[in-house]
Amino acid sequence: MGSLRTQVGIIGAGPSGLALAQLLQLAGVDSVVLERRSRDYVLGRVRAGVIEQGTVEILRRAGVARRLEREGLIHHGVEIAAGERCHRIDFTAQSGSVTVYGQTELTKDLMDARDAGGAPPVFEVDGVVLEDIDRERPRLRYTRGGKANVLECDFIAGCDGFHGVSRKAIPAAVLKTHERVYPFGWLGVLAEAPPVSSELIYLSHERGFALCSMRSATRSRCYLQCELDTNIGDWSDERFWDELASRLPAELAGRVVRAPTIEKSVAPLRSFVAEPLRYGRLFLAGDAAHIVPPTGAKGLNLAIRDVDQLAAALVAHYAERRDDLLDAYSASALRRIWRAERFSAWLTSVLHRYPGRTSFDRGMQLAELDHLVSSAVARAAFVEAYTGF
Ligand SMILES: Cc1cc2nc3c(=O)[nH]c(=O)nc-3n(C[C@H](O)[C@H](O)[C@H](O)COP(=O)(O)OP(=O)(O)OC[C@H]3O[C@@H](n4cnc5c(N)ncnc54)[C@H](O)[C@@H]3O)c2cc1C
Repeated sequence: MGSLRTQVGIIGAGPSGLALAQLLQLAGVDSVVLERRSRDYVLGRVRAGVIEQGTVEILRRAGVARRLEREGLIHHGVEIAAGERCHRIDFTAQSGSVTVYGQTELTKDLMDARDAGGAPPVFEVDGVVLEDIDRERPRLRYTRGGKANVLECDFIAGCDGFHGVSRKAIPAAVLKTHERVYPFGWLGVLAEAPPVSSELIYLSHERGFALCSMRSATRSRCYLQCELDTNIGDWSDERFWDELASRLPAELAGRVVRAPTIEKSVAPLRSFVAEPLRYGRLFLAGDAAHIVPPTGAKGLNLAIRDVDQLAAALVAHYAERRDDLLDAYSASALRRIWRAERFSAWLTSVLHRYPGRTSFDRGMQLAELDHLVSSAVARAAFVEAYTGF
């Protein structure tokens, strides 16, 4: 059996696990990242793309923002469309902005930094088991290439996403979960095509929500609200672009470039919060701790903010022998998380078509959107939440 020792054992090489390892290494704290999947699989995942200013600042501090700042697209507004009406919400009055940069690219930057730091993740580990998390010396057991291994740690960071093992290691009597599962999903495509507009367009249409987003000036990322049991095989590229154009105001519909898609997937929508985020020497961060529907583009941003806070608390433990930040982590992260949950659930509720939606419900949605685009106070609250609190 192989035996290793580190200060912080990190489960998961998604953005939260990789960013935590990077922040810790810069402060002189050792960690080992264990990842179930292969390096190519992790690098190939297509997911989020809207990065808040505060997240960019954390990534800059972590030394991984150089390419993001060179290649990312800075946006100072979004468009909200309903029927034939389209309104721009301007971020500049509040000095707000977001950067459009694919999670795939960010993952590559974080992975390159791990390689350059001489501490790449341990890929393709199986059967990770957390032991003694409520004692001084917790352990992670796992197998790799058929060989049993043990990683002894001071702390464990559960950065293993919604379906990971770390949250499940917290006793059921301690862990509380709060969940809303939405009765629809998003059918998403990626295509080598210029975006419909230079900014994101969020659409509330009688036929359902749609989003015209992008990953670069030549690569579109578009979504359609769809049934949860949608079969991707039923959606030819032509059908997707036709449906997207039918939900856009006529003037914008003519700008849809019907390029072949290079990725197509269906994602369910969920709101989820686990608490507490700490049990003994285990700390949860990122999607292991919470899920937001992607409407507000908060998932990746929350994950990076979690690990920034957790890294600071762990560094204070080692460098200053202070544990107050570790003790405060769960309550203070949860407060930030619930606010992002509120915004994401609200935006989802006003933009999507719900089964059984009545004409009154639709009237309420349109009134919410009208209030949002016509009230300076409502716009300011939206900008504050969308660009990062
Ligand atoms: C299809 C999809 C689309 C999304 N779109 C958006 C979007 O548009 N905007 C937005 O802000 N957010 C979006 N998100 C959310 C965003 O991608 C996540 O919030 C972000 O990836 C969270 O990072 P994480 O590192 O916490 O979790 P993850 O990225 O899920 O990483 C967890 C890692 O842990 C590994 N792992 C899991 N179990 C184990 C185990 N037992 N042992 C070892 N390793 C394990 C996984 O393989 C994975 O690499 C989307 C998510 C999905 C799934």
